Amino acid sequence: MKYNRCGKSGLLLPQISLGLWHNFGSVDNFENGESIIKEAFNKGITHFDLANNYGPVPGSAEENFGKILWHNFQGNLRDQIVVSTKAGYTMWEGPYGDWGSRKYLLSSLDQSLKRMKLDYVDIFYSHRFDPETPLEETMMALDYAVRSGKALYAGISNYNAEQTREATAILKQLGTPCLIHQVKYSMFVREAEAGLLDVLEEKGVGCIAFSPLAQGLLTDKYLKGIPENSRASNPNGHLQLEEVSEQKVQKIIALNEIAQRRNQSLAQMALAWLLKDNRITSVLIGASSVGQLNNNIDSLQNLDFSQEELKMIEAILG
Ligand code: NDP
Repeated sequence: MKYNRCGKSGLLLPQISLGLWHNFGSVDNFENGESIIKEAFNKGITHFDLANNYGPVPGSAEENFGKILWHNFQGNLRDQIVVSTKAGYTMWEGPYGDWGSRKYLLSSLDQSLKRMKLDYVDIFYSHRFDPETPLEETMMALDYAVRSGKALYAGISNYNAEQTREATAILKQLGTPCLIHQVKYSMFVREAEAGLLDVLEEKGVGCIAFSPLAQGLLTDKYLKGIPENSRASNPNGHLQLEEVSEQKVQKIIALNEIAQRRNQSLAQMALAWLLKDNRITSVLIGASSVGQLNNNIDSLQNLDFSQEELKMIEAILG
């Protein structure tokens, strides 16, 4: 594994990080999740990404992650891994379990720590921009999380370029720099290129790209229909059937041909394509099996693209 510096911070993150959004909830097979985490760590993936609401049921991914850590590593591993969590989406009923108030963020962080049986997380994120709460309040909650020792660094996710510019300025003023932005970015989802990546570079903020495989679309999984063991066919999965459109599948088939010529799987090429940009600190993958995880890690063996390949990829993506 290679480790990249996260923006202008002291923290190094693995080029590939593992997220627990799917496959680690109370509805999932615990032993499978445990094997994935153990294999990831053994391969040098030191960064594990969670959120209060990951499951289902919400909260259960954090509970399972805590169990896996304590069962397998008796907590000895704590200083060798970077654990992140977030608050910002609906977590509990009533007016205090959603969005970006200080009340929600700080009580949610306490709950996350209890579920994972940790004293602190490494990164605490505001999971989304809240148009109703003053940005100062949300950023002051992140600053407090760090000052109180419950988080080591602060991050933001799903903020647009302008919101990011403002948030980083407030955090800087408070004395807790914004470490990282977690942004949806893949060959199929490229909004980040229209300004956000430039802001992050200018402000010295790291960038971790989530759903880099577009939830599995950018793999060989959907080349021949929708298999049973796929996120698109899983009632708990967030990939909608209509996203696997005929037009997408044609693009996937064409991209897969380029990947084959590079002696890579499509998943590997999709990850390499993101990592070729040195503004990307890490790609934040999901995996439903150890096999997928290893396939994805092997992307690191070829991160170079010829101009010709890049042009062909652009032509396909349109
Ligand atoms: P990906 O785009 O990497 O999709 C992962 C899924 O793709 C897997 O679960 C699997 O699905 C399939 N897959 C992965 N590797 C392969 C392979 N080699 N061959 C075939 N299929 C493969 O990422 P996710 O959408 O899972 O997101 C990753 C992480 O990003 C999350 O866990 C979370 O931590 C973070 N995230 C953050 C968000 C935010 O708002 N900040 C929002 C969403 C995610 P299958 O079940 O079909 O096998």
